[in-house]
Amino acid sequence: MRILVVGGAGYIGSHTVRRLTQVGHDVWVFDNLSVGHIAAVPAGRLIEGDLADSGALLKALTENSIDAVMHFAAFTSVPESVAEPAKYYRNNVIGAINLLDAMREAGVGKIVFSSTAAVYGVPDHIPVPEDSPPRPINPYGFTKLAIEHALADYARAYNLGFAVLRYFNACGASSDSSIGEDHSPETHLIPIILQVALGQREHVAVFGTDYPTADGTCVRDYIHVEDLAEAHLRVLARIEPGKGLTYNVATGVGFSVRQVIETARRVTNHPIPVVERPRRAGDPPVLVASSQSIQRDLGWTPRYPGIEAIVQSAWRWHSTHPRGYGDRS
Ligand code: UDP
Repeated sequence: MRILVVGGAGYIGSHTVRRLTQVGHDVWVFDNLSVGHIAAVPAGRLIEGDLADSGALLKALTENSIDAVMHFAAFTSVPESVAEPAKYYRNNVIGAINLLDAMREAGVGKIVFSSTAAVYGVPDHIPVPEDSPPRPINPYGFTKLAIEHALADYARAYNLGFAVLRYFNACGASSDSSIGEDHSPETHLIPIILQVALGQREHVAVFGTDYPTADGTCVRDYIHVEDLAEAHLRVLARIEPGKGLTYNVATGVGFSVRQVIETARRVTNHPIPVVERPRRAGDPPVLVASSQSIQRDLGWTPRYPGIEAIVQSAWRWHSTHPRGYGDRS
């Protein structure tokens, strides 16, 4: 298939591009490089452009005879979305609608959309099933949920076929450590911990130690980026016109902030000093998901179900690329 990966220079997008390419898909990346990295894109496959530019989107879709789109281009920081919601609604929601409308105009009828655990807010049941009512508690979650609704409406009205993948906490790097996570500024837990191990930060701040969890810190479901990439590959093959699929992509097992730090101490042999800080705005106490549906329907199963292997994978990338993609330029 000829696939346009929007946001394919970013963290999850680049790992998915690699997996799609490995199995023989003809892949093009559309990215404005605002947070993505040119070094993460296969040579000659980057179309530099912005989601706000409908003409550029239409050109990318038609000139490359695209059959399907994967959409990763979004801002993804919960605290930033609380501080700067306008940025999130403009890019995440309006950008996605521009993309869907360009697809309609170009006659491209299939899309896989990156959604998030944040659509669930504070769920009633853990692990969260897909039929848990979505009730976001931060602007990031609201932007993703808005697009989920738009996809369902476009499917009904315009026969669009779509898949929504609700990811939990993406982490880790490619198994050959050639691509990995590089955000600037970094806000995610595992890279921050590993920056402490590399001596680039003094300590890691633990946001909230009074949550109703076993050790008082937030619990998350950490899912390896290559497992996410595999889920995209598999779900693409199941998309049908006018229909939508929605899956959680998670391991079903949660780890607290303190457990992740403890694991990183073992993996890196660094003491990783901690300072305790108040809760961070927008953080639910526990997010762990059931991925039974995707396991049953697509035969997908996480290859990295434990935190130790995930932190090892992230550490291989960060220790060999201490300045991220900056090490290559
Ligand atoms: N976290 C933390 N210190 C940090 C970064 C994150 O304690 O420097 C916590 C955060 O409050 C959340 C968990 O680690 O409970 C995972 O946060 P992250 O930003 O990695 O992902 P999110 O769950 O927000 O998507």
